[in-house]
Amino acid sequence: MTEVPPRIIVLTAPSAAGKTTIARRVLEAFPGMAFSVSVTTRPPRPGEQDGRDYHFVSREAFERMRAAGELLEYEEVYPGLFYGTPRSAVEAAARTHPVLLDIDVKGALNVKQLFGDRALALFIAPPSLDTLEERLRRRGTETEASLRARLDRAREEMAYRDRFDAVIVNDDLERAVAEAIEQVGAFLHSTASS
Ligand code: 5GP
Repeated sequence: MTEVPPRIIVLTAPSAAGKTTIARRVLEAFPGMAFSVSVTTRPPRPGEQDGRDYHFVSREAFERMRAAGELLEYEEVYPGLFYGTPRSAVEAAARTHPVLLDIDVKGALNVKQLFGDRALALFIAPPSLDTLEERLRRRGTETEASLRARLDRAREEMAYRDRFDAVIVNDDLERAVAEAIEQVGAFLHSTASS
């Protein structure tokens, strides 16, 4: 396949705003698109697979990669838990295919700065912080303290929404999926021959 300038789609959302489902549906809608598998020091959750969901690494291995410049961007997303985007995988895939990244707000803005018009940064917002709290409580995976921490973080992240190329409010999952697919389609079309 011929080499084209990179095209990067970055999806970001405060905790539990439906981002994982939207990412999966966008990947299904654009069959050539590659997904960037991040490196993380967080332990795997039940059902997660190394190399598919994340590359699960030790703190030492993460630090070695960071020091060697192997990460395109990285963040300490939660205290003591590091996440990063492997540079070589993204650069290799982006030579032939658009690449989708599912990363946090600051990581997304860093990638946008690196790639400029070659990146589309989408922010998936919950209808409100109250709805987010309800969703997190229903999911039942959080203690009261971790729920508070996630809500505080979501509040902070919401403050960055205006810096994104588009904000998609996830009040209805199907509608939000359709809007994300439309945004990505328009971006791929507008950057196809440039
Ligand atoms: P989780 O632990 O729930 O899988 O992810 C926590 C957060 O880390 C999510 O917002 C996710 O998008 C973000 N994240 C995952 N991979 C990366 C990455 O490579 N870089 C950055 N900056 N954030 C990431």
